[in-house]
Amino acid sequence: MSLGFDLLGTDGLARRGRLTTAHGTVETPAFMPVGTAGTVKAMLPQSVAETGAEIVLGNTFHLMLRPGAERVAALGGLHKFMNWPHPILTDSGGFQVMSLAELRKLDADGVTFRSPSDGSQHRLTPERSIEIQHLLDADITMSFDECTTWPVEEEAAAQSMRLSMKWAERGRRAFRDRRGYGLFGIVQGSVYPALRAESAQSLTDIGFDGYAIGGLAVGEGQEMMFTTLDTTVPQLPSDRPRYLMGVGRPADIVGAVRRGIDMFDCVLPTRGGRTAQAFARRGELNLRNARHRDDPRPIDEQCACPACLNHSRAYLHHLIRSEEILGAMLLTWHNLQYYQDIMRGLRGAIESRSLELWIAGFEAEQALGDIAPCPTKP
Ligand SMILES: [Zn+2]
Repeated sequence: MSLGFDLLGTDGLARRGRLTTAHGTVETPAFMPVGTAGTVKAMLPQSVAETGAEIVLGNTFHLMLRPGAERVAALGGLHKFMNWPHPILTDSGGFQVMSLAELRKLDADGVTFRSPSDGSQHRLTPERSIEIQHLLDADITMSFDECTTWPVEEEAAAQSMRLSMKWAERGRRAFRDRRGYGLFGIVQGSVYPALRAESAQSLTDIGFDGYAIGGLAVGEGQEMMFTTLDTTVPQLPSDRPRYLMGVGRPADIVGAVRRGIDMFDCVLPTRGGRTAQAFARRGELNLRNARHRDDPRPIDEQCACPACLNHSRAYLHHLIRSEEILGAMLLTWHNLQYYQDIMRGLRGAIESRSLELWIAGFEAEQALGDIAPCPTKP
């Protein structure tokens, strides 16, 4: 295998592991901040690293349209272009083509679509997606798949999944194996256990460096997502990393780690950072809310991010109300820090085989809700 994965320990179904890529190692379970267009929005790359993140995600769809994969390659690859010398995973473009592109036409061979920014026509096939990710120099390349809609009938989910499996096989053939680089297959099949099983079998027959679970966190709800993981995860090879795509809220991540998932990505901490939403040990809070206007306390007294070390809720509230850029920067940093703190906590708990105790503590704190508002000054 060209991508290293060492299983360092387990606690129940949860795994403590280490990925070895061409651009460094990644301790798992890991959360990957989303760097859509070659930037984790509102963060300097070194600040992203300071939170403890070891790998970020880049988007094929966005980067192929602007600035273009060939241009990024000519400039030395995505790591150099964005000054992120650490590992990068790129998605295949499949999800964004279905959700963002205009006038898209799907056929058995691929998708033709128009750019939402300038109307220019483009085409993505399994082979072209793999080539673009190669040009970007992604450490981890994702198979090009068709994004199954939600909700979906079983027959339509089956057709969509089987098309994605054909594309996965074509992508595997197009992928150039190199040391430190890997290709992940994506299990589809919506919420239908038989389809998930068929998809997992097809992918393991082809053979990938890692296995992702796609098509979840699309509106099915946490309970159905966990049920799908319960039946799907045991069908994936235990010696390869498992990645749950697009998940999620802190409680979703904790529940999925408990079920044996190793990798995650989600826009929530970064998008939340730009929309006044903070994730914290005692749940989610909205800094735009008037209850924070006179509050001299930080978001979270135990958090070591610059927002919490140096600034009050009152100041963050003021920045957000004034639409100051610094508000989005500080909140994004806090959210990414909190997500990485969760991952560190989970890794430590699996190592010491005390995951259930850690989760009980996590859930108890989340259930407390935010600290009571400051008493109004006389
Ligand atoms: Zn903080």
